[in-house]
Amino acid sequence: MEAKQIIKWLQLFTDKVGENKAYLSELDTPIGDGDHGANMARGTSEMMKSIEEKNPETPTDVFKLAAMTLISKVGGASGPLYGSAFMGMTKASMKSDDLVTILEGGMSEIQKRGKSEPGEKTMLDTWSRVIESLKDGSLTEEKVKEIAEETKEMKATKGRASYLGERSIGHIDPGAMSSSYLFEAMIEAGVK
Ligand code: ADP
Ligand code: MG
Ligand code: MG
Repeated sequence: MEAKQIIKWLQLFTDKVGENKAYLSELDTPIGDGDHGANMARGTSEMMKSIEEKNPETPTDVFKLAAMTLISKVGGASGPLYGSAFMGMTKASMKSDDLVTILEGGMSEIQKRGKSEPGEKTMLDTWSRVIESLKDGSLTEEKVKEIAEETKEMKATKGRASYLGERSIGHIDPGAMSSSYLFEAMIEAGVK
């Protein structure tokens, strides 16, 4: 794992978020407040700006800079959650360069910050199932898409969408979708 490759991963993530900004906000409209696309687009472009300015040289430094910018620039519920995810990856990357270990470090910080479990219709559902498929060798971009789309049938018990109870069923979770872009980007960048 090299810093350059992680930067490429984050650039592709930023591109996907930018391309799908309207769609992410559209997903956040029926079960949230319609700002997820704007939140993520602002945060990821600020993240790339600070990476260009500071030119971090190790994977740990890249993850750390990403964490700091996402926490301060995304806002909403997802800012601290993505920030925590990248902080978890920062810490894990100091001890290991195994991708599963690093992603698990990210996921456990989302859980701590969000007090959430898989199955609650959040970004955590994408993280947990992507990590599972990565472990059993079945992860593809197609699979990542399916995973995010499968939050449609779930009932939200965390975040704004949980205020809707049963009425949250039938809508894809916006954070699960934005996390799917993160993992599609990871595959496209060839991060292993
Ligand atoms: P806000 O809800 O404050 O407007 P966003 O719209 O940017 O924030 O982000 C909403 C997303 O955050 C949800 O779609 C969900 O995936 C995620 N989320 C919210 N609360 C939690 C939580 N407690 N644990 C994990 N993810 C959460
Ligand atoms: Mg929102
Ligand atoms: Mg909001």
